[in-house]
Amino acid sequence: MAVPLSVVLHELGHLAAYRVLGIPGVVLHFSHVSGAGPDHPGWALATAEGAGPLATLAIVAICAILAATRGTGPATVALGLVAPFRVVVAAAWLSVHTVWGTGNSANFDELNLSRAMGWPAQPVILLELALVALALWWLTRALPPERRRALLASIILGGGLGVAAYWLALGPLLLP
Ligand SMILES: [Zn+2]
Repeated sequence: MAVPLSVVLHELGHLAAYRVLGIPGVVLHFSHVSGAGPDHPGWALATAEGAGPLATLAIVAICAILAATRGTGPATVALGLVAPFRVVVAAAWLSVHTVWGTGNSANFDELNLSRAMGWPAQPVILLELALVALALWWLTRALPPERRRALLASIILGGGLGVAAYWLALGPLLLP
């Protein structure tokens, strides 16, 4: 459940931003939104690109706050831990780009946002990774210590299976 929920909320973040900014014709798909032409102001496209990761960070933040204030159950922690799985793309790009200097034409939210704003991509991605790492550490601590390793293992396994099931079967079925 954590995977479809977090991915769809992420994409709805993009979609809502396009709608609010009056960019028409954008269509929701299971893994992305499509249809925004380049003939819109750069700041508007950048805002809409950034709205997805921002929605993801908001989910993580809400889970972290709930975990801190309510002593909430493993399900909230699991959602918070699984939701930001997309940052592996940004982290992989950052590693490749830093070591080999390649990948300037890659296509993912954080890079597109930086490009549209004329920002260097590395600090943007590093900031996001730092926030996510902090939240993951915080959420992990919210798991009961005696069951932490088992719960973490099942959350990681479940998250991986969830991503596979969503990308290969459920997602294309729900939102082609
Ligand atoms: Zn996105």
